[in-house]
Amino acid sequence: MNPKEDKRIRYNQMVEGIENAKMYDGRGTYDTYVCEKCGNQMITTYKDKGVTPFTMRCGDCGGVMMHVQTKTTVEPGVRVNEWVRPTLEQFLNMPNAAQEHVLNGGLILKVMQPEEDPFFPIKKIMEKMPAKESIRIAYIPIVVCNAALHYAKLVADYCASHRMPYKLECRTIRQESVEYIQTCLKTVDKSTYEQLEQQTNEFFYSTQTDLITLYWTVRNEFLKFFPGLDDDQMEIYTNIYISHSLFSYVRDFQVTAEKHMSKVCGCIIKTDPDIHILKIWKSLSKISEGYDIGKAPIVELALKVIANRIDEHVFSEVELTED
Ligand SMILES: [Zn+2]
Repeated sequence: MNPKEDKRIRYNQMVEGIENAKMYDGRGTYDTYVCEKCGNQMITTYKDKGVTPFTMRCGDCGGVMMHVQTKTTVEPGVRVNEWVRPTLEQFLNMPNAAQEHVLNGGLILKVMQPEEDPFFPIKKIMEKMPAKESIRIAYIPIVVCNAALHYAKLVADYCASHRMPYKLECRTIRQESVEYIQTCLKTVDKSTYEQLEQQTNEFFYSTQTDLITLYWTVRNEFLKFFPGLDDDQMEIYTNIYISHSLFSYVRDFQVTAEKHMSKVCGCIIKTDPDIHILKIWKSLSKISEGYDIGKAPIVELALKVIANRIDEHVFSEVELTED
């Protein structure tokens, strides 16, 4: 008998026998798991009769989540994930160790999608707006924020390698960048995020000439405003300015997009500025210590060129219908 056929028979035998097997049946109960490291909580229930683990990996921090409680009810509206038996087809595609787990009655966790945010009703948006348009609204901020983070990282790297006294700020920039990306990974899946990273690279590639122009325009403005600045300061303040400008672009873009979506969907769509980006913004401001050139027309122009490029090059196949 070939191994696959053997596996198939063993799977079917397990499924047939498990209802009458003398073992714990958790159906109709709710289990609480709590992360030892970050306190993250998860409620699970049994869709099928089977075996579940006492511990699992925390999706938020990678720590260990422990089973702490079994209840017979949950409050309404609480998100509940289900332990399910993989189908025969899913089972046959699993690695050997996982197959053994399933043959011993082991279940796998089906993680439910988060409840819809009332201020960002994705389903409604998807219904009412053309797909390309909603994708563009969701993705442009991520691509441009990634670009802004690139400049923030340049600042942190420069401060560190030149032993400048901004350790706390640099640490915040690095930590919050990581957390921002983790937040993104909760709203888009990993492969989509990788595509967006790719688009960020394409953004840098397609706009490199304009970015260099922007860099020197900003640097010259700093020289005009503050002739006494040394090279270190010029380098850092220029990159901070560009990073801030890109973050501002994102926020303006989001506010405009949310107004547009509210109109199309007939409800109020409104999101708060990203908390991680705000912290990075503040750390950058701390480093530039009030050295600000404001809104110089020549810089605004250079920024506008880049804003147009974002649409032209990165999202060339995606169109936004203006209202
Ligand atoms: Zn955790």
